[in-house]
Amino acid sequence: MTEPAPTTRATGTTGSTEAGTIDPRRMNILGVVLFLFIPVVLFLFVAHPAPVAGSVGAGLLLMAGHRFLARPYMLAARPHKCIWCNGVFAVRSGAENAPRRAVELAQGGPVPPLELLACAAHVEPTRRFFAFVDRLRQPLRVGIGLPLGLLLGALVAFSAGVGDWTEPATALFRLSVGLTVNLAALGPWLGAPREQSRPAFPVHNFYLLGIRAILWIFRLVGIWWIAAGGLYWLKAAGLLQ
Ligand SMILES: [Zn+2]
Repeated sequence: MTEPAPTTRATGTTGSTEAGTIDPRRMNILGVVLFLFIPVVLFLFVAHPAPVAGSVGAGLLLMAGHRFLARPYMLAARPHKCIWCNGVFAVRSGAENAPRRAVELAQGGPVPPLELLACAAHVEPTRRFFAFVDRLRQPLRVGIGLPLGLLLGALVAFSAGVGDWTEPATALFRLSVGLTVNLAALGPWLGAPREQSRPAFPVHNFYLLGIRAILWIFRLVGIWWIAAGGLYWLKAAGLLQ
């Protein structure tokens, strides 16, 4: 990414006073470990190894518990790393690597907005991404939430011996999530470079690896899931043997 440093109101100072006190290597390893919760949960839901009820229960527990680890991680890491490239401000010299305010993200209610920091070159793609997913917040949430609800419903029905809709529900989940995350990943190109946004997804997940890496995972896994889920539905519709 080579976007020029935008504008104006970059603070350049936030968090830099604490920058000497952290261990960048440890922070990044912890980010990767916390990120790995997400593929584990997806595996439990999509592959649903037997006993299916156990997989669903374990997946839901990990999902619920994850935010209590990932959100404190975000709050601790936020002053120290670029939300876009995951680079640690303190280990890189030069004015272009000093922290700047990229986005103020509304947190709802009386909680003050969260200030997301980036290095100079990454202020603009960060603003574009958050503005884009803010604008498409409702379709993005439906595109993930609805097929997730149907998949969990199908897995619970299967465990209870009510019926087996697990295969179509899994294929729908992969197709819909694949399309939705690929749409979200267009944000850095299509969004307006706005400073204030509201979050469409839990922002703490983007702090684990940085937005840039997360969006590449969205694109690549998304294409795989579109192919796998789409193939099932093309066969089900009799359009493929
Ligand atoms: Zn950066």
